[in-house]
Amino acid sequence: MTVLAVQGLKKVYPSPGQPLCVLNNVEFELRSGDRVAILGPSGSGKSTLLNIIGGLDQPTEGRVVVDGQVVSEMPERELSRYRNRTVGFVFQDHHLLPQCTVLENVLVPCLASGSPQQDDVNWALALLDRVGLKDRVWHRPGELSGGERQRVAIARALIRRPALILADEPTGNLDRSTGEQVAQLLVELHQEQNNILIVVTHSEHLAGVIGKQCRLENGQLRWENV
Ligand code: ADP
Ligand code: MG
Repeated sequence: MTVLAVQGLKKVYPSPGQPLCVLNNVEFELRSGDRVAILGPSGSGKSTLLNIIGGLDQPTEGRVVVDGQVVSEMPERELSRYRNRTVGFVFQDHHLLPQCTVLENVLVPCLASGSPQQDDVNWALALLDRVGLKDRVWHRPGELSGGERQRVAIARALIRRPALILADEPTGNLDRSTGEQVAQLLVELHQEQNNILIVVTHSEHLAGVIGKQCRLENGQLRWENV
């Protein structure tokens, strides 16, 4: 059981005029099995929030605590491990390596601890089967459709069995029906693996597929159907 606590989070970006306060006292707690969609218009701070939770950015004030450990206070080595093992990221742009096969792409996070082991390869193949790409493991990303590429990215996010899945506009580049399928897949895998799933989106429709929703507005998080 993992507990994610976001406490008094504030993020201020310097800007030529007034400093830009993007997050202002954001607080919530989630545990394994919870999933939530964070809605908000473009520029409302959704990516900033996700990046701070995932250890890619630092808050100006406040903290992110995962299983009692404060992410912003982790030494570099531990932070790398946190990003690699505890967090699985899915981005709007799949960020796949074009020269690598689908299977190699899924195994990329395993390279952080040396070369992938047979167990890793078996799990990668099982995940690719699960996301419907069993017959595509030797293909390269350029030979896949947008939806298929995003399925590879989802398999890659899950390869280390992370406790936290952070998806930033994961269907932003897909048409409505493909986007809905990808969102549905994220939900199913979340239910199977009992992690914490946070999906950031500006789409009400996608948020509806995810379930529980909150809205980022003027730096603050407002919970909707809880
Ligand atoms: P969203 O993901 O909701 O579209 P972002 O978190 O990307 O929003 O950005 C929120 C606001 O912060 C935007 O106005 C953006 O221009 C600004 N911003 C994001 N990153 C930086 C940065 N590194 N420096 C200055 N301003 C930034
Ligand atoms: Mg964004």
